Amino acid sequence: IEQSQSENELREAIEQEQFDLYYQPIVKLADRKVVGFEALIRWHHPIKGLITPSDFIPLAENTGLIIPIGWWVLRSACQQMAAWQQEHPDSDKLFISINISSQQFSQPYGGHIITRTLAETGLNPRCLKLEITESEVMENIDVVINTAEQLKTSGVQLSMDDFGTGYSSLSHLHCLPVDTLKIDRSFVQNIESDRSKLELVKTIIKLAEVFELGLIAEGIETEQQRVQLIDLQCEYGQGFLFSKPISKLKTKSLIETKTLLV
Ligand code: C2E
Ligand code: MG
Ligand code: MG
Repeated sequence: IEQSQSENELREAIEQEQFDLYYQPIVKLADRKVVGFEALIRWHHPIKGLITPSDFIPLAENTGLIIPIGWWVLRSACQQMAAWQQEHPDSDKLFISINISSQQFSQPYGGHIITRTLAETGLNPRCLKLEITESEVMENIDVVINTAEQLKTSGVQLSMDDFGTGYSSLSHLHCLPVDTLKIDRSFVQNIESDRSKLELVKTIIKLAEVFELGLIAEGIETEQQRVQLIDLQCEYGQGFLFSKPISKLKTKSLIETKTLLV
């Protein structure tokens, strides 16, 4: 009963567009320069207030509602990024990173929906990164590979999210045309003090070198972690040290002033 009630609420949320996007800056670790943003969904529930994704994305995944929600996220984020770039032409190198469910990727015409959304919103495909998680990818690997390859040719970039946490077989790394690995925050936590965490991060970074992939470290919270990651040759990162996810108004002013607001 509880599940079907929440499911109805989620359907209502889609119809009434109760969702909103926050944006977390992704920076170059060496100079903290913003290179892009990750779009992160929030649900403004009329009674319960602000709900974070971990409290409704699992239900959305189980009910298939992640498909309409996910396409809404894609369209809104592309539209928003295109608008910011129009207002501030010097921001045309910034990218927008979007979390995409494998259900979207394995939908018939999933790839077409993405390229059509890019055309309709006017966003340069090179400014779009799609984040997929390892565990998701593995279920429908053939379809995902197909969609991914189709998108690659149009210039869209692909990131492997939460790298190292899924039930991944590393073998999938070479059959998916991935550009970037996102090092999960659980590996970044305590790298200053935990020797084995540090070794894990080193290994992931080596792996990225071998496959010629870019690296973004997630969940950087301390200056020590930043310095440590720079030493290990990890070029980019995101985390509360630089900025939490911020509203679109704050993001706009960040783009205008080029200053991180911590
Ligand atoms: P994710 O894609 O790995 O996103 C990063 C999460 O880490 C975000 O949580 C962000 O707020 C949090 N984070 C960033 N820096 C730090 C830090 O320094 N410390 C800590 N403790 N946390 C940090 P958020 O926004 O709650 O999102 C959670 C997850 O929900 C995301 O993980 C992603 O898997 C999923 N998600 C969010 N938005 C969407 C969406 O539009 N579609 C789909 N399919 N999934 C989404
Ligand atoms: Mg992500
Ligand atoms: Mg992640």
